[in-house]
Amino acid sequence: MTRSLPAPQTTGLPTTRLWIPQRVLVTRSAQEHPHTDVILRRCASAGVDDVELLRGDRITGVRGETERETYARAKSTLAVVTSPASARKLDPIPPSADWRVDLARGCPAHCQYCYLAGSLTGPPMTRVYGDLEEILAGLDVYVGHGTITSTNVDRAAEGTTFEASCYTDPLGIEHVTGSLSAAIRHVGTHDFGGPVQLRATTKFADVAGLLDLPHAGRTRLRFSVGPESVVGRFEGGTDPVGKRIDALATLARAGWPVGLTIAPIMPVGDWRAAYSDLLARVATALVGVDDLDLTAECITHRFTPGSKETLETWYPRTRLEMDPEQRRTKRGKFGAVKHVYPDDVMADLRAHVTSELSERLPAARVLYWT
Ligand code: SF4
Repeated sequence: MTRSLPAPQTTGLPTTRLWIPQRVLVTRSAQEHPHTDVILRRCASAGVDDVELLRGDRITGVRGETERETYARAKSTLAVVTSPASARKLDPIPPSADWRVDLARGCPAHCQYCYLAGSLTGPPMTRVYGDLEEILAGLDVYVGHGTITSTNVDRAAEGTTFEASCYTDPLGIEHVTGSLSAAIRHVGTHDFGGPVQLRATTKFADVAGLLDLPHAGRTRLRFSVGPESVVGRFEGGTDPVGKRIDALATLARAGWPVGLTIAPIMPVGDWRAAYSDLLARVATALVGVDDLDLTAECITHRFTPGSKETLETWYPRTRLEMDPEQRRTKRGKFGAVKHVYPDDVMADLRAHVTSELSERLPAARVLYWT
């Protein structure tokens, strides 16, 4: 069944680059959950007029005749589904957080190094979970049981940490889902019986709808930043880095804990000057913020054989360097291969970025380098 939605209403939100799905598919199971109504109202406000209420739970019709067509269709589709059981059983997510909580899987942006290419399979459509109440209600049992940040002496004060951006960019889809604000409100107002922190990182900047939420200092939103030589070349469909820095400063001035996710760090062009300039811009934006609570997470570029293959299918003309010969191979716990920068390159990057951080943003606590 295809349903027409009411004419778009004005949201009063600022003019960042908002994604409007061309098509919204709602599975039968998702239709039973109240958060699905929130999603559909937001889609209507955003101007979506192609909403299909499915009679079953299978999503079909996303594949096209070519890889290109499948990619384009998937990236313009929002599926409202219920979470699989695997998403409700939380896993540790080192080094970011004690637990990974998924509000959605998939992202409409077009980053040529996207980390989702190595972790999600099938057409890259965005699936948002309509059973959000159940997902959030499931957090209680994990409080006090973290083994990543909770056992780290430097981070234990954060409480039990929940990372919401492993499989999506929750701010990038917030205007059509409302899931991030619902999670922030829940974490800010629910009695968990112990300290907790919700964490999310984003390459978007539309924070106006979050500002008045009762976050209680329990959500840390981090903005993914990089120099123009990285953001401008490889991060299609995201907000410009200047807007992300403005959004970071807006939240910081409103008393939110904030963070920088400097990622993916790459030795591209005159990278020393580029990272110095980037951090100088952040420092300027944060001048005069009282009680600044700022963290920094530093993630160098890496890829796996699987993510390389997927990314080269999605972006066949990419100029992104993904040459295993130029990299050091790292093996994970179960033998999984990752290609990272060689030790000397890594040491140079680390020395420069961390020394610029301590010089230009002395208030920033560096949580990890990887
Ligand atoms: S914003 Fe993040 S999740 Fe979305 S395409 Fe870019 S890297 Fe992937």
